[in-house]
Amino acid sequence: MLPPDFSKITVDKIQLQQTIGKEMELHVLRLDKIHPVISGNKWFKLKYHLEKFSANNYKGILTFGGAWSNHIIAAACACSMYNIKSVGIIRGEKPKNLSPTLQLAEEYGMQLDFLSREAYSQKSNPDLLNYFLQLYPNFYVIPEGGSGLDGEKGMAEILKVVDLKLYTYILCAIGTGTMFRGITSIISPTQTLFGVYVLKGFEQSNFAEANQMTTSDYHFGGYAKQSLTLINFMNDFYERTGIPTDFVYTGKLFFAVEDLIKKNTFQKGSKLLVIHSGGLQGNASLTPNKLHF
Ligand SMILES: *Cc1c(COP(=O)(O)O)cnc(C)c1O
Repeated sequence: MLPPDFSKITVDKIQLQQTIGKEMELHVLRLDKIHPVISGNKWFKLKYHLEKFSANNYKGILTFGGAWSNHIIAAACACSMYNIKSVGIIRGEKPKNLSPTLQLAEEYGMQLDFLSREAYSQKSNPDLLNYFLQLYPNFYVIPEGGSGLDGEKGMAEILKVVDLKLYTYILCAIGTGTMFRGITSIISPTQTLFGVYVLKGFEQSNFAEANQMTTSDYHFGGYAKQSLTLINFMNDFYERTGIPTDFVYTGKLFFAVEDLIKKNTFQKGSKLLVIHSGGLQGNASLTPNKLHF
């Protein structure tokens, strides 16, 4: 299997009805095109973890995630590419039928261990980590979602492929905030990083630097929650732009972008770069035919 092909990334210029007359430019960084499975930002989050792994004598990689996790599938796929043993600690009891995400992770050779939701919530507890490290001695542990400083360092590289100085606003979805932090470290003080929370409970933003803006108005009820409005938007957006989105992150992001433009959040002449961070595999959890792509 080939490593992700960064030459597949494109920057698509799109025209929305909402931008007409506002002299705005709207570009989309298509990280979803990197690889059919490890799409988007999760590859960049893994990069420095993989380097640390190979610089030391670890036996394998152990990481955490839910049944539909983009991180789990990216880690499983990356480990199979590099012939690394991988273990996924999965939130919740083992279901009768594995989700497509977990089936594929297994096909990539990842061993799956299921943990009750209660025990899983202790995933950063050293006792629990030690327990797993006894089961899997000398494994390298990557935190859930690939978060942490190594993840941020990788995320700081996602904008290497664009001419960053062209833009006044960079927009992205916020899950753990690792991508947001990583990008903050590389933009200039005259640029604004605009984050759209996809989780509930961030009415009080945890990012308040001068060139950071966030909104928590577009979580649609919380993480991985969706509604007919969102699904209809994603179908409509695809018909208008040819860009597929996922319902957990990028669907909410593009919904927010259109609404914010409509509400004149960005001044005339703004140049927006929206980061399509991928995650399309997660759409398989929706009932079939809901999405037209
Ligand atoms: C994980 C993920 C995000 C969120 O990234 P964080 O660094 O956790 O904020 C956004 N989009 C997609 C597609 C993701 O898989």
